[in-house]
Amino acid sequence: MQAVPIYSHGNSDVLKYVDNFPTPVPSSSEILIRVKYCGLNHLDIWTRMGIPGISIMFPHICGSDIVGTLQEDYSTFPEGSRVLIYPGISCNNCDNCKNQNEVLCNNFSIIGGLSNYNGGYAEYLSVPKTNVITIPDEVSDEQAATLSISYLTAWNIIKKLQLKKDDTVLVYGASGGLGMAVIQIAKALGIKIISTISDDSKLEFVYSLGTDYVINRNKKEISLEIERITHGSGVDAVVDNAGQKTLTTSINSVRKNGKIALCGTTTGNVANFNIRSFYSKQIQLYGILIGSKLELSELIEFINEKRILPKIDSVLSLNEVKDAHDRLESGKQLGKILIKI
Ligand SMILES: [Zn+2]
Repeated sequence: MQAVPIYSHGNSDVLKYVDNFPTPVPSSSEILIRVKYCGLNHLDIWTRMGIPGISIMFPHICGSDIVGTLQEDYSTFPEGSRVLIYPGISCNNCDNCKNQNEVLCNNFSIIGGLSNYNGGYAEYLSVPKTNVITIPDEVSDEQAATLSISYLTAWNIIKKLQLKKDDTVLVYGASGGLGMAVIQIAKALGIKIISTISDDSKLEFVYSLGTDYVINRNKKEISLEIERITHGSGVDAVVDNAGQKTLTTSINSVRKNGKIALCGTTTGNVANFNIRSFYSKQIQLYGILIGSKLELSELIEFINEKRILPKIDSVLSLNEVKDAHDRLESGKQLGKILIKI
């Protein structure tokens, strides 16, 4: 089959398009999927580059936002049904798994991520049958291929932080997958959104998502602008997927007793921050890693009911995966980058 495996970690040159990769053979607990679309996430870049201390088997196929069709009947769904793949793999046996909180399982890993489960840059994929979720007719394949990582993470953040109508939230990187997802979901719930961009060419796009205020971080100091916009009180919550370079800004921008969700490290993994400011303001800090299968099902229902349409930056083919990674790393995209297979 056609696929884009990596044989080692490294820059985007390690993504090798081949047309003779062995088609997976599903075990009795698995099912074969013909992949139609795979959405890109920063997770794909971390997986490609590797993280010290985590080793995976090669060749490995990246890609975790997977939509395809069943290649055999499963439960009440006939062969050919359109499905979304829940990307989390866990033991299905521990208390966390039994309580539908599988992300906390000691054996949790992500299909196509830094795990030994191949992902969606391929014509076919074999996944545990329990990871299959059918897609409502109203949700297109392209939209569905944006949901399993960034939209699921955004959904989990808004639930865990218990954000509600008229709360104000600060979101960084509004034109990326997670930023866009938080803005669209928050908007649908009546939450006020302040988002940041790096250049004014993205202004129109970010307003079109439903954000209320946009700060160009290269022109204005974010926390001073937040102070001005919120009349000195600060925002109720910050969604911080940038990490190293933004945590101090997050602490300075959130109100007393406000909440910060840490959910990514796009600017680096290790941060210095002012501990006294943090506890003086009695800030609540949350760590968020995607979400459960149950939450993915809730999210699909919500997206469908609220008619949320994730914006697609570009759709590339399997032999253009390297270009897709380069575009994502450049930060120039407006919305999600998809691979069509
Ligand atoms: Zn478990």
